[in-house]
Amino acid sequence: VLSVRNVSKSFGSRRALDGVSVDVAKGEMIALIGPSGSGKSTLLRSISGLQTIDPGEGRIDAFGGSVQAAGKLSDKVREARKRIGFIFQQFNLVGRLPLFTNVALGSLGRISPLRGTLGLWPSETKQAVMQALARVGIAEYAGQRAGTLSGGQQQRAAIARALVQRAKIILADEPVASLDPVSARRVMETLHALNAEDGLTVVVTLHQVDYALRYCRRVIALKEGRIVYDGPPEGLDRTRLIDIYGP
Ligand code: ATP
Ligand code: MG
Repeated sequence: VLSVRNVSKSFGSRRALDGVSVDVAKGEMIALIGPSGSGKSTLLRSISGLQTIDPGEGRIDAFGGSVQAAGKLSDKVREARKRIGFIFQQFNLVGRLPLFTNVALGSLGRISPLRGTLGLWPSETKQAVMQALARVGIAEYAGQRAGTLSGGQQQRAAIARALVQRAKIILADEPVASLDPVSARRVMETLHALNAEDGLTVVVTLHQVDYALRYCRRVIALKEGRIVYDGPPEGLDRTRLIDIYGP
């Protein structure tokens, strides 16, 4: 469902990604790990078309069509973006708007607070939003302002917004990094359920290796912009982890 071929990305003289190739099959749940600065966020942003890659051989395809090649976003990138939900560490909700509205905004594929505040949502949107909120376990807070929810609830709201957007792939960049352990586990369980039960493809970057080992059947480790491990969590023994993160 996703193909990353020989992708490099430089910032000035700094190579954030250096010839990265990854194939992701539909229905996989992959943990992307590696030390700070290894290129995890850069890879996710490139896949979602939020960022262009270096011109050259590199290309990225999603759903069988090109997202970008030779450093140029393709004209299909908008289409791909709609089917890729991006989850950020900092939730990216509009705190003063109700939870319902925040999630409903996903159905537009862009932020339109005017429409949001007026609350003129078609009934199928209402239904889709309430279904998504129920799916991630926060339907009872629909009318509450997003800013008053806990971090874990806000993160699940961001996931619900991706569901309303009808995303088939979820790219989550450090979704649990600013959460307490209990909330973090619930967010990971939510992602895991959407993967296992609803068939969503999930790629999640994680600082905590134990979450990667617990929830993902495939782990990809980046180091200095290169893939240094791609395989099952069982293969990540102590020596490998020291090799990735240092002693
Ligand atoms: P972290 O775990 O800290 O989030 P990361 O693995 O996500 O790290 P990236 O954010 O992808 O790492 O950064 C990879 C490298 O690219 C780093 O050296 C970073 O400083 C550099 N970089 C990333 N984005 C930019 C940018 N917009 N401008 C300049 N340099 C950047
Ligand atoms: Mg990052």
